This record gives sequence, structure tokens and C-alpha cells, in this order.
Amino acid sequence: MVTPEVIQQIGFIVGAEYVSTAPDTIIANSQDALKQVFCADAIVFPRTAEEIAAIMKLANEQRFYVTARGGGVGYTGGAAPVRGGIVLATDRMNRILEINKADLVAVVEPAVTNYQLQKAVEAEGLFYPPDPSSWKESFIGGNIALNAGGPRCVKYGNTKQFVLGLDFVTPTGEIIKSGGRVPKNATGFHLESLMVGSEGMLGIVTRCILRLLPLPEARRTALAIFESAQDACNCVADFTTSGILPVALELLDRTSINAIEDYEPSGLPRNAGALLIIEVDGLREAVAREAEIVREMCRKHRAIQFREAANDAEAGAIWEVRRKMSPAVARTGKIKLNHDIVVPRSRIPAMLDFIEDLSRRSGFLIPTFGHAGDGNLHVNVMLQDNGEDTRRRGADTVRQIFEKAVELGGTISGEHGIGYAKAPFFDLAVTPATMELMKTIKRALDPNGVLNPGKVFEQAMDAHQVGFVNSDQACC
Ligand SMILES: Cc1cc2nc3c(=O)[nH]c(=O)nc-3n(C[C@H](O)[C@H](O)[C@H](O)COP(=O)(O)OP(=O)(O)OC[C@H]3O[C@@H](n4cnc5c(N)ncnc54)[C@H](O)[C@@H]3O)c2cc1C
Repeated sequence: MVTPEVIQQIGFIVGAEYVSTAPDTIIANSQDALKQVFCADAIVFPRTAEEIAAIMKLANEQRFYVTARGGGVGYTGGAAPVRGGIVLATDRMNRILEINKADLVAVVEPAVTNYQLQKAVEAEGLFYPPDPSSWKESFIGGNIALNAGGPRCVKYGNTKQFVLGLDFVTPTGEIIKSGGRVPKNATGFHLESLMVGSEGMLGIVTRCILRLLPLPEARRTALAIFESAQDACNCVADFTTSGILPVALELLDRTSINAIEDYEPSGLPRNAGALLIIEVDGLREAVAREAEIVREMCRKHRAIQFREAANDAEAGAIWEVRRKMSPAVARTGKIKLNHDIVVPRSRIPAMLDFIEDLSRRSGFLIPTFGHAGDGNLHVNVMLQDNGEDTRRRGADTVRQIFEKAVELGGTISGEHGIGYAKAPFFDLAVTPATMELMKTIKRALDPNGVLNPGKVFEQAMDAHQVGFVNSDQACC
């Protein structure tokens, strides 16, 4: 429990008006997209790295927990203060500091949303590829902490490919400047790379130097429907021999197609095995040729329908099908256990077969969709009630999916991270020595364990309790 005296001291650092103990503010900032609330003692809205450094020093002196928060739309509970303490909500650190066309660099504060950054750089004829579907709400700081990806990562890579330099505050309150604004840098350890994917456990990012690309001149989008998931997967796999690398190769399985048709009929054939959304980008002439190859590939793999967008509006309509996935799937059950596994893309058919069989055996609907181009599948185990037995069976079903992903040469997260939600399964994906090294790094940077406890390798709860509404959630 953070005492009122300590909360007052935090107020001296950031200004009393930027510390809140109001129940509404606490509840809103003590959860993420999992919607499981763990009430913080106070929510603090710092403005500068210096303020954050002073708070971290105080946290080590007074021994209270601190959890950094971005847009709060993570899917694994990373920003939830599972052991109480304070939440550092970065909302006020939201300025785009520089967009430099000559150097292909953007410098931003951590609370700039992915969407704001994309629109700002596009206005300058530039391009920031990482595109999580939560782009309108998620912050660049959160994207960095989770190494966020999205449909375009097949061709361009995840957030880590675009981080050139970072300023961050260590858990003990030092301000570190790592990397820089140059595309090549071999000057000591890449501490900025250590921060990418560190889930808010090794430091708090306060300034981000990001790599940009020239905005591609043209883009073409197509939707292809296949009788079987196997045909769609063969098509995805065969792109490696096609001589082109699409920007996006998104797959929806039969259960997902039917979820969309139940939610908002879109004219998709309910008996189709799978559909692919395929996009290519680049110079206009090259894109025209690449679009031909896409058409040939879909024909070769027996697509039963093929629709190519003639303009931006039609491309938007195709992507709208993909955007409906989240709400459509949510309607197929009362509780959604949503996990993002990755397998080598040649193993997607084996994974889909396994999920179909598991769905039959467990009795749970398991709509599966996602970024097939990089083997990153969003698997949703849908529960129809919140009973203890259902939750335990749900957690066991999730475990079997993770075990299979690892067995096929993949892992248990491609972009959502581990947080507290996947912590009970983390040992499936890393060796004991690997986990020990991560703990050693954490101890070296955070000797008092004050920053974001109860995550990744520290299990805050049993698997069957993850993502479920507790009766003690009226804590505030
Ligand atoms: C509908 C929906 C669609 C989604 N689609 C995608 C997708 O396509 N791809 C994808 O990758 N993810 C997706 N996500 C998951 C999520 O939105 C992303 O992982 C996103 O990166 C989270 O960003 P955030 O700002 O909301 O982070 P938060 O949830 O606020 O925090 C996430 C983690 O980052 C840490 N953190 C936040 N800010 C900082 C900082 N400044 N310094 C250090 N650590 C910090 C937190 O402590 C926490 O551990 C989706 C989520 C939803 C709800």
C-alpha cells in the first residue's frame, strides 16, 4: 500500500493535480484490453523523464511498485498493476518532436499513438510500417514494450526493426540514452534493443527515435476464397517461390468466416475453408506485375473466388472484413481467451488441423485468424460461461494449443507479449537457462523488484484465473 505521505511526495514531483486517487480514474487505468481490474493506489501522469526518474528513486527508497501504462489496449495484462502500487500513465508525453525527411527519422514521445505517427509521416510522403490493429489507441511506448506487429510485418518486420534509439528511465531512476538517429550504429551494447519487447519491466521509455521509409507509390489489395484451409495455406507457403513478398497475407478460417457472417453478413460463402487477404505495395509498375502474380498464385491454388480492389474504397471494404473479426468473434461466446501463437508458416496447416480437432474434443468454438504470412495466428477459445470447471477446461485447452505451437517449432506469442496472462505458460516456450538469464538481467536493473512485478516469469495467478472477472474487483 502506498501511504498518503508518499502520494503527497509524488505530487511534489509531478504537481498534485497530476496524481489521482479518484476511483473512476483508478479503475480506468488499472486494466488493459483483458478488462481484469487490479486497483492501483494512485494514478500518476508525469510529463518528463526527469519526473519519472525522481519517482523511480522514491519507489526504491520507499519500496512501492510502479507499472508503466501506454494506451492500455494490451492483450496480456502487461499494464495492469497486479500487485498494486502506482500506475505511471504516460498520456501527457504525447508530442511528435521531429519528422526528418532527409534522415528518414521520427522522434516522438511515448504516448503518441501509432495512428497519429502514421498519419503525420504519410503527410510528409513517409512511411512507418508497424501497424497493430489497435493503431488508433495503442501508444508507440506500448508498441515498443511489446514489439508490436500487424498485417504489414510480413514484408517490413515488427517494431524492433524500426527503433533506432531510445531514452528510458531505469527502474532505479537513471536516465539512459541509447542508440541514436543513424541507421548504422555499432557503438557498444544495443540497450535500445534490450528495451524492445521488455514488457515495461526493464525501464520506462520516454523518447523514441524511429526509422522511417519512403511511402510506397502504389498498393493493390485482393481477397481470395478457398474451398479448403489447406489450399489457402499452400498458397501462403508458395509465395516464397513466387519472387515477391506481399505486404500482408492475412488468413481467416471457416469458423471466423461464419462468425463474420453471423455478425454482419458480408457475402462470404459459409462453406469456404478459408480466405486470404493479400496486399502488395511499391512502385506502380512493379505493383501491377505483383498483382498479376498474386492472381496467378491464387488460381494455381484453386481459389474459388478472387476479388481485386479497383480503388482505395474497395481496398478499404476488403480490410473492413478483417477489422470485423474482433467484434464478430467476441459475439460467439461469453468469454474470449485470445492468444497469438506463431508457427513456421509451413506448419500452419498442421496447426489449423490440430485446432479443429481440439475444438471438437473440447467442445469450445475456436475461431482462428491472423497474419498467416509470418505464421502468427490469433486463436480464440470461446467459453460460454464463467464457471470454475469451464475456466479450468478453457485454460487446459489453451495449454494444449501452446504445447502444439512449440512442438511445431513456434512459440506462444508473436506480438501480444506474455504479461501476466501467459506467465503460467512461459516455461513451455523458454529453457530454464534462458529464463534464468532473463531474471538475472531483471535483477541487475531492478534490484528491489519495483517495476512491473508479477509478469512474464513471475506468475501472479493460476492459468484458469486469467482474464476472468473477480468478485474482489470492486477494490476501489
Ligand atoms: C482490438 C485489438 C487489436 C490488437 N491488434 C494487435 C495487432 O495487430 N498487433 C499487435 O502487436 N498487438 C495488437 N493488439 C495488442 C496491443 O494493442 C498492442 O500490443 C499494443 O502494442 C499495446 O500498446 P499500449 O500502448 O496499449 O500498451 P499498454 O497496454 O498500455 O502496455 C503494454 C505494456 O507496455 C508497457 N509500457 C507501456 N508504455 C511504456 C513505456 N513508455 N515504457 C516502457 N513500457 C511501457 C506496459 O507496462 C505494459 O507492460 C491488439 C489489441 C486490441 C485490443
